[in-house]
Amino acid sequence: MINSKILLKNGNIIDENGNLEKNMSIYIDNGKIAGISREEGHEGYEVIDCTGLYVTPGFVNLHTHSPMNILKGIAEDISIDNWFNEKIFPYESKLKTEDIYWGTVIAAAEMINNGVTAFADHYFCQESVYRAVADIGIRGDIAPTIFGLADDYDQQLKNAVSFVEEYRDKNLRIRLRLGPHAPYTCPGDKLKEIVNAAKKLKTGIHIHVSETKEQVEESMRLTGKTPIEVLYESGGFDIDVIIAHGLWTTRKDLSYISDKAVFAFSPKTYMKLSMGYGNIYELKNEINYSFGTDGAASSNTLSPLEQARLFALNGKFISDDATAYETKDIWRQLMKGHDALKFNTGKIAEGREADLLIWNLDAVNTFPVYDPLTSIIYSSDASNIRYTMVQGEFLKYDGILKADIRSIISKVGEIQKEILERGKGKSKVSY
Ligand SMILES: [Zn+2]
Repeated sequence: MINSKILLKNGNIIDENGNLEKNMSIYIDNGKIAGISREEGHEGYEVIDCTGLYVTPGFVNLHTHSPMNILKGIAEDISIDNWFNEKIFPYESKLKTEDIYWGTVIAAAEMINNGVTAFADHYFCQESVYRAVADIGIRGDIAPTIFGLADDYDQQLKNAVSFVEEYRDKNLRIRLRLGPHAPYTCPGDKLKEIVNAAKKLKTGIHIHVSETKEQVEESMRLTGKTPIEVLYESGGFDIDVIIAHGLWTTRKDLSYISDKAVFAFSPKTYMKLSMGYGNIYELKNEINYSFGTDGAASSNTLSPLEQARLFALNGKFISDDATAYETKDIWRQLMKGHDALKFNTGKIAEGREADLLIWNLDAVNTFPVYDPLTSIIYSSDASNIRYTMVQGEFLKYDGILKADIRSIISKVGEIQKEILERGKGKSKVSY
């Protein structure tokens, strides 16, 4: 931390419920919010004048594959089957640890620019992801991916478990859990085995479930159960679980889902890969959910705010009801990502970690501001986020990212060339 005492002076606070409190000062000490008041005492504090600006909690990206930023744009205008089998899996099979590291670095930089203060990641080569997250300073909840169908499944599980054992609690901004890829790639006993390993480690899991209609039908054909039911029978709802997508969760599935589960919706990916509306618009009031971006190779951007915006627009569109998906509701759902990752963030209150954003809405895309929350949800972009703070440290300061963007872009450009030269390999898994 550069300065342990920071005063965000005289800003307009928008809390996790979307309520506005004007002209408040936030005192930050040693990475935590130490007080909120209208008083002006600031001896020993680095003062950021927030007059006319808005202060909100940061955003959580509840599901992504950050290293996939290195493949952003490599598979476009393509069906989901070909996206996996013809492009992503073959290119992934030849990725090197340095590609993973730099993919994560540029992803983290983009997320900080977009106001993300914490994200949940799901990928292999977890040590490289860990190193990149630690170097950039964003918060990460890292889940090493495990494919139950892979020849080296036993080794994958062993590596994931020893990764959690070795790296847990080493960095206050990083948490770890296990990442079984999906019920269809971790069938039967394998999923149970991974869940049991997570229980033993006293951690959670992060898993893709019921992403497409075909996946649910195939699961019914093979096991007589939906993927949610398979996860339930493996004990996956006994522990903290991030459900990536769950787009085709059924009404009957609701009886299996516990309150330890949080769904991460990524509507941009569903639209782009033509995965259908699913049932989530119908079931949304009966499940815990927030938003994730999925990897940039499918959604092209890492902005949970954009995903929330698309969710609201889609919801209004398909329900034929413009009064549904109210701004405050969407904001509250967006903020629920904080509860899922348990970093003690997401509320602007004394004792909470100082993971905050400072917004300037006096800009052509957002002004005039009748309601600041509406401006943020429907009009803003990354340029309105002037400051991104994680644990009291500015990772974006007055519009400039702390990370050295020029050298990141140059390095990622070199890797992009190498990836194309190397070409596609033979994948161990198929979709
Ligand atoms: Zn995913």
